[in-house]
Amino acid sequence: MDTFPNYIDGAWVDSPDAIVNLDPSNLEVLGRYARADASAVGVAIAAARAAFPAWSTCPGEQRANILDAVGSRLLEQQQELGRLLSSEEGKTLKEGIGEVVRAGRIFKFFAGEALRPGGELLDSVRPGVRVEITREPAGVVGLLTPWNFPIAIPAWKIAPALAFGNCVVFKPAELVPGSAWMLAKLLHEAGIPRGVFNLLMGAGGEVGRAIVESPDVDAVSFTGSVGVGRGIALAAVGTGKRFQLEMGGKNPLVVLEDADLDLAVEVAVNGAFFSTGQRCTASSRLIVVEAVHDAFVERIIGRMAKLVTGPALAPDTDIGPVASAEQLGKNLEYLEIGRAEGAEVVGGNRPPLAQRGHYMKPALFLESSNEMRINREEVFGPLASVIRARDYDEALAIANDTPMGLSAGICTRSLARATHFKRHSQAGMVMVNLPTAGVDYHVPFGGRKASSHGPREQGSYARDFFTTVKTAYEAAG
Ligand code: NAD
Repeated sequence: MDTFPNYIDGAWVDSPDAIVNLDPSNLEVLGRYARADASAVGVAIAAARAAFPAWSTCPGEQRANILDAVGSRLLEQQQELGRLLSSEEGKTLKEGIGEVVRAGRIFKFFAGEALRPGGELLDSVRPGVRVEITREPAGVVGLLTPWNFPIAIPAWKIAPALAFGNCVVFKPAELVPGSAWMLAKLLHEAGIPRGVFNLLMGAGGEVGRAIVESPDVDAVSFTGSVGVGRGIALAAVGTGKRFQLEMGGKNPLVVLEDADLDLAVEVAVNGAFFSTGQRCTASSRLIVVEAVHDAFVERIIGRMAKLVTGPALAPDTDIGPVASAEQLGKNLEYLEIGRAEGAEVVGGNRPPLAQRGHYMKPALFLESSNEMRINREEVFGPLASVIRARDYDEALAIANDTPMGLSAGICTRSLARATHFKRHSQAGMVMVNLPTAGVDYHVPFGGRKASSHGPREQGSYARDFFTTVKTAYEAAG
């Protein structure tokens, strides 16, 4: 089997060691991908630095054309790329294709943004002086991404980085090199100049660390776990680079007594279990007021029983396999932790085809309290808890009682309650009668507290991280 090489300085570069890409639906080998080492990182960073002067000053239209072409190719190839993505990550084919389409639209959105970097012209407070505020690229940027959105998260970092004139050193998660490699191939085919974009597949502790610790990288944008993110923050401060961290969630969905209960159950099932619960915005804490608690629990258990857990590419699958053996092990461990803490577990068993892949049925913890570990620590699997609340006030307090603050939702028919929740939720994104997961690409994405650090991603707000502001004063004469 051939090895898919890394992409460094405009060339495809092999390495002695390889990453084996496994399909979590059947444990078959999808491909071998070159595993870069720290020396390859140095070559890629030097190439990016060399490419920066020309790329950062070329007309925005040149950058826009490349991004637009990549966007078109992603949309044209959505079926094949969606299959590859679902095969390596395990989400359903519908979700995989949807993610590729999203990536395509992100590239097209940022093709437009390349032509509107913006700026301001002001009078000075001093007579005869003019002040000009412009934006310039941040420089060489390191982009580090997790495994759960193998093409959308790379797209929402790479597209704005390139649009605003930065050069990129990109390290995808080791678990999903296939989608990242295809994205590099599309950039190459679209004519990205050599050195402007570099792909380095490899281990976080080696390749990721070398990127973060390099004094020649100006900025790092990271999405992943809180623990790794905090280490990156320390290393970035140590080398004086700007950094942006998007990390975990422990997202609450509040269900009030006036909610449309059928809608609330759909919103909860979608938010908690779709994409096998492997979304940073997943609804892991379902906070239900006493008055509708039992009815909600009965309906959601009935709905869970109808969910089909199966291979990612099978047409009737609702919930694909867990992405890796390691993540499956973690999920099963949390089932035991929840039980030991006194919660009652519904579901969570491994279906008969479990011998051939990393399958587990969605699990719901009942009679759980917000103090339990299962309600404080991110699990990142198809596991959710129901927490009883007396009334709205208590539900809001529980929703906010978490170290995380990415996304939060409420199901209610009351405009007053929805408005109050939007104002008082301590999350970066708030959903009313919608799943906590599922966001648009043209508006800011990000959280508060331990979930995020730095400027928002996506939409026009992405500019704040990928550009640096310059203020110029000029005697007007
Ligand atoms: P992870 O933190 O293990 O890894 C993320 C990336 O960082 C990977 O590419 C990894 O190889 C790299 N990395 C690991 N150690 C490193 C180091 N020492 N130096 C530099 N890079 C290093 O996360 P994961 O397991 O791939 O993804 C799951 C996590 O991602 C979950 O916690 C989830 O909540 C989070 N996530 C957050 C968002 C968000 O936007 N908030 C979105 C998706 C996923």
